Amino acid sequence: MLILEVAVPRPLHESLDYLPPENGTLDNVVGRRIRVPLGKSKTVGVALGVKEGSNIPSQRLRQAEEWVDNEPLLDAELVKTLTWASQYYRYPIGEVLSSALPGVLRRGGKVQRGEVWWRLDEQLLGDATAVRRAPRQAELRERLLAAGGAARYADLVTECAAWQRAGRELERRGLLHRERRRTSNMHEQPPASSAPPTLLDAQSQAVEQINAARGFQVFLLDGVTGSGKTEVYIRAAEQAINNGRQVLFLMPEIGLAPQLLRRVKERLGDSVAVLHSDLPDVERAQAWLAARDADVAVVLGTRSAVFAPLPRAGLIIVDEEHDPALTQQDGFRYSARDLAVLRARYLGVPIVLGSATPSLESLNNVASGRYRQLALPQRTGSAKSPSIQVIDIRSRPLKGGLSAPLQQALGRHLEAGQQVMLFLNRRGYAPVLTCHACGWIAECQRCDARLTVHRRAGNMRCHHCGASRPLPSVCPGCGAGDLLPLGPGTERLEEALAELFPQYNLLRIDRDTTRRRGELEARLAAAHRGDAQLLIGTQMLAKGHHLPGLTLVAVVDVDQGLFGTDFRATERLAQLVVQVAGRAGRGDNPGEVLLQTRHPEHPLLQTLLESGYGAFAAEHLNERRAAGLPPFASLALLRAEAVDANAPYVFLEAAADWGASLTRRQQYGVELLGPVPAPMERREGRYRAQLMLRSESRYMLQAFLGDWAIKLAGLNGARKVRWSLDVDPVDTV
Ligand code: ADP
Ligand code: ZN
Ligand code: ZN
Repeated sequence: MLILEVAVPRPLHESLDYLPPENGTLDNVVGRRIRVPLGKSKTVGVALGVKEGSNIPSQRLRQAEEWVDNEPLLDAELVKTLTWASQYYRYPIGEVLSSALPGVLRRGGKVQRGEVWWRLDEQLLGDATAVRRAPRQAELRERLLAAGGAARYADLVTECAAWQRAGRELERRGLLHRERRRTSNMHEQPPASSAPPTLLDAQSQAVEQINAARGFQVFLLDGVTGSGKTEVYIRAAEQAINNGRQVLFLMPEIGLAPQLLRRVKERLGDSVAVLHSDLPDVERAQAWLAARDADVAVVLGTRSAVFAPLPRAGLIIVDEEHDPALTQQDGFRYSARDLAVLRARYLGVPIVLGSATPSLESLNNVASGRYRQLALPQRTGSAKSPSIQVIDIRSRPLKGGLSAPLQQALGRHLEAGQQVMLFLNRRGYAPVLTCHACGWIAECQRCDARLTVHRRAGNMRCHHCGASRPLPSVCPGCGAGDLLPLGPGTERLEEALAELFPQYNLLRIDRDTTRRRGELEARLAAAHRGDAQLLIGTQMLAKGHHLPGLTLVAVVDVDQGLFGTDFRATERLAQLVVQVAGRAGRGDNPGEVLLQTRHPEHPLLQTLLESGYGAFAAEHLNERRAAGLPPFASLALLRAEAVDANAPYVFLEAAADWGASLTRRQQYGVELLGPVPAPMERREGRYRAQLMLRSESRYMLQAFLGDWAIKLAGLNGARKVRWSLDVDPVDTV
């Protein structure tokens, strides 16, 4: 009797056995979707194989209903990659497979092929009166006019999320039409519209090495911001495309996509599919299918685009490879960078990881000879590297977080007609509200955290659970009236700057000012146009934006990063400093970078400032080696939380005991550390604890997890907690 193995989207570690459906062939089953009964309901699963007979008694075997696909939707390579990922990250195979699929396809839906375009109605071609009162609609009209009246919907939404609404409104009024066009095939590319620059020597060498790669090879493109990394990606991609191959281009943030998309299309032609979570479901499915049918030459997307099918793969590129946003941090936790490397290996193609501040993992892989380093030591054109200086703020009076030397520097750059950017990774007005008389501090009732003062909104908020309370007018502790907001947030910084420099325009970019769809793009565009001279932001502002008029970047509080609880805090801080410094002086004027700190003698800062990121990384790698931390060891973290303070410990103790007996028996050499309270022990009213697993050998840790993880759900106390297992955790807090 032939039995189908079907992975269903449920938390099960193995596929389920079904009798084949009445019709449809049993050839090529792997990767085909199939509708099956499950419990009292139905679901769509993915077939993973056919076998002779089952361990399940035949009267209990259920029959699959029908095939959704006649051909595999997921090809063999993708199934292999996803199966590997499910095993490595210890996440149920059915859920891994379904999270790799766009929603429509996951639910077994069919998608009409082709791309949606938006075309302006004739009324709007010569006459803008109809959109006079709607700036977004006017913008969209301009954009479409510039493209000759029509453009691909997915591109428009990627460029500016707010155009989605503007366009729907125009559509409703009959001023815009939706059309379905055939995907422009990768083999009938229109010629590129812009001429390439002559490469610098370092760039040419990098391109040559990538192009000379035969089969799988990992390159680390290590070049400061503005050194021409993107140009190298484009040249290498060009060769792959000329050979009739596809290119996958991953980046950490959708915010970086518009610039890149424009550049890629100018240089490589129109055969580009974008894949990211801002895209409506159907468009995502169409882009995914266009990649699967090898209709598109380039797939450009954020982390989940790592699961795009690539039947004609030629090259994979991961930009900003150090960025933690490339790692999915809940549900199916995976590193898109690491999976991209795995795919390159399975596909037998080269992969380029690029960064101005490579992760210590990648640098260590260079040192051990697994990756090949390609260095771009200089900025292109006349732009010079900025000078970085520290301002010691011990015993200096601060105004809204700003010291006098920083205020002077700001004045200097602003008077010269340039842009300045202040960086503070803390939104709101002040991170603490305290009583001068009795020392009371505003704390969240559900978290071990302080409430942040949001003055404009008139409340205090917890940034961990979202709880919000009105600002008290008198101290709830002693009834006195002397409440003081302590420390700077972006809102307070804005207030201080508006007082100090009233004649300049100010733009704040943080989660609070960019909540509305499209607001981030709008603010960034305003920054590009030079509408504002003073830019304030959290780390949202730190990434990849090219602002030619920007000459001064200040990090208001470096110490936030120097003393983080996570072992990666120092690496992150160094990356942040170098990345924000990369924003300064990209035009013709030299840049200046100022860092405010109370610890000017901190060895990390010293090395970073005197010798640069490379030297810092080398030193820090030695520290990691001595401490037995990644990349010199592998970690996994078992987290548990519950309303009952004791429950996480009951479960984690059981997990630790079971682990200890396993590792004794099998000599896995895995260390079990804990359980210990999580750094923020209470969050959203739940107590949290964790158990760390450490091994010098990734292989041994994996072997251990294979035995250990499958039994966790059955352990004592497992049902009384929420638990999750994080393999290669990006943060351990
Ligand atoms: P990165 O990706 O490292 O930040 P880019 O590739 O974006 O660097 O290059 C920075 C700027 O220099 C861009 O405006 C780009 O067009 C330009 N550029 C890149 N390579 C060259 C070159 N060889 N000659 C002249 N300009 C270049
Ligand atoms: Zn008080
Ligand atoms: Zn809270």
